[in-house]
Amino acid sequence: LLSLQAATVRFGGRTALDSVDLSVAEHEIVCVLGPSGSGKSTLLRAVAGLQPLDSGRVLLDGRDQSAVPAHKRGVGLMFQDHQLFPQRDVAGNVAFGLRMRGASRREQAERVAELLDLVGLPGAGGRAVAALSGGEQQRVALARALAPSPRLLMLDEPLGQLDRSLRERLVVELRELFGRLGTTVLAVTHDQGEAFALADRVVVMRDGRIAQSGTPLQVWQRPADAFVARFLGFEN
Ligand code: ATP
Ligand code: MG
Repeated sequence: LLSLQAATVRFGGRTALDSVDLSVAEHEIVCVLGPSGSGKSTLLRAVAGLQPLDSGRVLLDGRDQSAVPAHKRGVGLMFQDHQLFPQRDVAGNVAFGLRMRGASRREQAERVAELLDLVGLPGAGGRAVAALSGGEQQRVALARALAPSPRLLMLDEPLGQLDRSLRERLVVELRELFGRLGTTVLAVTHDQGEAFALADRVVVMRDGRIAQSGTPLQVWQRPADAFVARFLGFEN
């Protein structure tokens, strides 16, 4: 479904993405792990079309995306700071992508109700987003990202602001949800427990490069190098 080939992004003298090769198959859940500043958000933004590449390519279904604007790529991105629209209610936020595509009011209302059920917020459409807890806001952001049924859903620290017990519960729910919907997911986290619980495959980044890619078990049992081992918390 997704393939990056030698994708490179520079900011001034800094190389945020350094010749990254990465493929994501349909229905696969890939989690990108790595320290702050390792290029995780830049990777997602490049795939979404929000960050142009300096060199290399992003392919979706084998087609080069360099000339395809963000809104035509068919990918959903849930931002690190989720960026809900504070002046709109929950339904207005979730319906955003549907409105952009010209869905009728009735279609929007039906889909919003369905999505709010899905993320465990049934009947919350009329609530003000400012009055929601952090976890509820994350769920609304997730519903908004899922609304247009993107062929690839990208999540940047989807559970970032939540406490550990809520994260652990939501991770299980998300894995179940994505499995049920058959969603292809590329998610960023710097919490290894979250990545290992959610992912079919884990990608560890360091300084804009991929330090290791493998199943959670492979990465856990056989860290590729001392950096990955240290990042996973092994003393070695
Ligand atoms: P975090 O875990 O803190 O979110 P990250 O892995 O998502 O980190 P990125 O946001 O991708 O990291 O940033 C990678 C590098 O690129 C960092 O050195 C960052 O300072 C730099 N960078 C990112 N965006 C910009 C920008 N718009 N302008 C200049 N430098 C940037
Ligand atoms: Mg980031």
